[in-house]
Amino acid sequence: LTGPGGEFELVEQDVLGTRLPVFRNRARSLAELVAASARHGDRDYIVTADRRISFRRHADQVAALATALREEYGVGKGDRVAIAAANAPEWILAFWAAMSVGAVAVGCNAWWSARELDHGVRLTEPALIIADTKRAALLTGSPVPLLPLEQVDELAQRYPGAPMPAVDVEEDDPAIILFTSGTSGRPKGAVHSHRNVCSVIEYHRMNDALAAVHGDPIDPRDRRYLLALPLFHIACLHNLAVPRLATGSTVVMHQGAFDVDRVLDLVARERVTNWGAVPTQAHRILEHGDISQYDLSSLTTFSLASAPSSAAFKQRLRERLPVAEKSLVDSYGMTETCTALTAASPADLAEAPETLGRPIAGVQLEIRDPFGNPLPDGEEGEVCVRSAYNMLGYWNDPRATADAIRADRWLHTGDIGVIEHGRLRLSTRRSDLIIRGGENVYPAEIEGVLAEHPGVQECAVLGVSDPDLGQEVFAVVVIAPGSVLTEQELHDYARGQLAHFKVPSRWRITQEPLPRNATGKVIRAEVRPTV
Ligand code: AMP
Ligand code: MG
Repeated sequence: LTGPGGEFELVEQDVLGTRLPVFRNRARSLAELVAASARHGDRDYIVTADRRISFRRHADQVAALATALREEYGVGKGDRVAIAAANAPEWILAFWAAMSVGAVAVGCNAWWSARELDHGVRLTEPALIIADTKRAALLTGSPVPLLPLEQVDELAQRYPGAPMPAVDVEEDDPAIILFTSGTSGRPKGAVHSHRNVCSVIEYHRMNDALAAVHGDPIDPRDRRYLLALPLFHIACLHNLAVPRLATGSTVVMHQGAFDVDRVLDLVARERVTNWGAVPTQAHRILEHGDISQYDLSSLTTFSLASAPSSAAFKQRLRERLPVAEKSLVDSYGMTETCTALTAASPADLAEAPETLGRPIAGVQLEIRDPFGNPLPDGEEGEVCVRSAYNMLGYWNDPRATADAIRADRWLHTGDIGVIEHGRLRLSTRRSDLIIRGGENVYPAEIEGVLAEHPGVQECAVLGVSDPDLGQEVFAVVVIAPGSVLTEQELHDYARGQLAHFKVPSRWRITQEPLPRNATGKVIRAEVRPTV
């Protein structure tokens, strides 16, 4: 395929001993990519409510900061540099600078408590932590040198005009560590190589080229992507901040908590074209009375990712948000896979509303039984995936790595799904699977049914232990404002929709919203009943 940005070709390459389809990467390392991005000159790379940073200025700053990290902190190849901060342009600057000296950038979750931050630091043993004021306050006992994020610009200014440091990195050297969400255990650090990330970038470039071939009149460099998700999350980093550096499009960054009015104002003022949201954010937009006062006419694409959203919810979004009507897509991925595994186009969603779509270019997908044997289409099993985008493994955790990455580099996702007419549909996270008296119950199914009740705002279903059945089905139901619902009514309703073994036997009815993590997933541990 040929398009703006060059030629694209998937070729077989040897990746850590396995032949995999890989795009011919233009850049072999992320430092090369930063250096090349200077060609976009005075165009905006990062825009916030009150700042604009051009590609040229950014590339110069990365080289200067990378030099400073080496000269003043002795950071070198293979060292880890942890970044613990809320979204800020300096986050992105620190991230590129760390990788440009050959170090591994560790993106800490900015919502972590002191205890969790301590776990992340102990696990990755960084040579330096770059932290904003709030995170620095949580790190007071740490022996690791700390560079305040607020001083990053000043430090870079001490090395004006410094060339990019010369370091020798291999494509399969680690570049980034990001932590998995931890909804199913203690956070683990997923390690991505320069090749993983450069491959994701080539994939995005090819998509831009494909869009042009299909008549999209917007030059990729004129696209403006909203970044309103935490940078430490894979969807944000690898689908927004990283590819944009290569394609020359602009990242419009929202800072602070997700505030619908502030975000819509930013979208309108900065003429954002592409918006990627987690369902919770989309839900807040729907809940927000009148949005017609904002001029959202610049938007061309609205995409969902990271957590399940129902067909009914997507339909409401299409009705309320004009951009969603034509462009709504959903995509499925995880920290371990660096980017999306599958994407559902508007056509996929029209034909099969519950689908997560088809594997993206370069991704091989299989559904397997518990013994690791591939299953035919239509049968439910574990989603397994292989691609050059997949992580190297979990940092300093060979057991978890061996559990996730099996023979021939197949990654076992822990998600249960089924392929129907070439499209993936997900049942639920396997760790959430409830086994009640020998019968498997998938919470997503029950949640979907309960959510359809007009009096239900949102809900979560989980297994609680039971001396007789092993596990019982427990439901937390948040009722819609103004409605009244009893346990008996909910039970009768569910009984009408579901096999008896799937009907929750324990309920909690509440008006409090469900606790969710940074990416909008329900924190199951927090809704679990204590008795
Ligand atoms: P994380 O690594 O925190 O991004 O979590 C990845 C997990 O989120 C996946 O293994 C899926 O269980 C779930 N997930 C991601 N995207 C979607 C989606 N579009 N729809 C439903 N579940 C999703
Ligand atoms: Mg995860």
